[in-house]
Amino acid sequence: MEDKIVTLEAYYDPMLAEIILGRLKANGIPCFLADENTLAANPFYNQAIGGVKIKVFEHDLEKCRAILAEEVVPQSVDEELISCPNCQSTNVSYGPAPIKKNWFSILISFLLSTYPIHLHRTWTCADCGANFNPHAQ
Ligand SMILES: [Zn+2]
Repeated sequence: MEDKIVTLEAYYDPMLAEIILGRLKANGIPCFLADENTLAANPFYNQAIGGVKIKVFEHDLEKCRAILAEEVVPQSVDEELISCPNCQSTNVSYGPAPIKKNWFSILISFLLSTYPIHLHRTWTCADCGANFNPHAQ
């Protein structure tokens, strides 16, 4: 089997492409950028050529996708252990917290300095719909 070189992703932002490239290289993935020079010469060609392409070997594709997937995970390494405190499901996701409190309780919380400003995001269970903060347990 020969190693085919394929496009992993295309980025309209060359800086972002460089960051991703650096991340892949740090994980031992052989990779390079294509079309970068064309972009530098004339950024208006971005749309026409589909941005900066990150090229990788086809057999590394899945590994690369895993590395890119890791990147969107927002926090620490122990996240994979997080499960729903309500139903123990691990089918949970991290996102913006739904606003449940009414304005009065938020105001009171503000006054008492207990409103968790740093917890604008929360974990949500896809199975039972529970919202929870694993770090508060
Ligand atoms: Zn649940």
